[in-house]
Amino acid sequence: MGYKGPYQGPPRKRLFVALMGVTCLLVVGLIYLGWWIPTMGLTNIHPGLPRIVGMVFAVLSGMAVLGTLLLVLTTALGKDILGTKFMRGVVIKFLLPLIEQIGSLCGISKDTIRQSFVAMNNSLVISQRLKVKPDRILILLPHCLQLSQCEIKVTGDITKCLRCGRCDIMGLAELAQKYQVEISVATGGTLARKVIIEKRPKLVLAVACERDLTSGIKDCYPLPVIGVLNDRPYGPCIDTRVDVNKIEAALRSVLV
Ligand code: SF4
Repeated sequence: MGYKGPYQGPPRKRLFVALMGVTCLLVVGLIYLGWWIPTMGLTNIHPGLPRIVGMVFAVLSGMAVLGTLLLVLTTALGKDILGTKFMRGVVIKFLLPLIEQIGSLCGISKDTIRQSFVAMNNSLVISQRLKVKPDRILILLPHCLQLSQCEIKVTGDITKCLRCGRCDIMGLAELAQKYQVEISVATGGTLARKVIIEKRPKLVLAVACERDLTSGIKDCYPLPVIGVLNDRPYGPCIDTRVDVNKIEAALRSVLV
């Protein structure tokens, strides 16, 4: 298991948390405006209407603030405080697209935000303290981890790897054998989805780039996914690397 991943530092969830706070403030501002503007005309319909509509919007604002606080606390404490699974869904389905827009307005690259999102997602999954049997865990790998000059076809059957050690597929195949977990190399999102449908895992440990991990986490929800970013010393999609020790640590944290 030689590769130690010197190409990139650990992604930080702080950025995503900060952007989440900004998004929350913007949402609350929009909710307030949504109340204030029609209120100018609501009085004309019924004198009590502005108060009722105001209360509804206050509850919505409170929920947005409370939800953000819960998310921050869950990731900070690493504990499943309340409805973490549901919260992860809100982050994935609603907050991420908004945060990506706000981040791009602030000049933050999509990949930086996605790295932070993956770290945040991992924190939420780990805070659920899931314990899964080995045969219900699937390690999903991108095809680009395999040495481009290797003539063996490991897609669909990683056991065909001759374990020559020229790429990280060897260490990952050995890891899967050691812990008796399912492992698969997929050439793209469609094949990855097919593997997930076939194997029906309870948890996926996925290795990929920022873009593929983000879309994979979105597609798989509510299935929990722990994402590990690959390194790309030769550019995207070719001879990528991953620190097998990172995968082993993630695996041990969820194994029964
Ligand atoms: S470790 Fe396996 S996949 Fe990688 S180059 Fe060697 S035989 Fe090919």
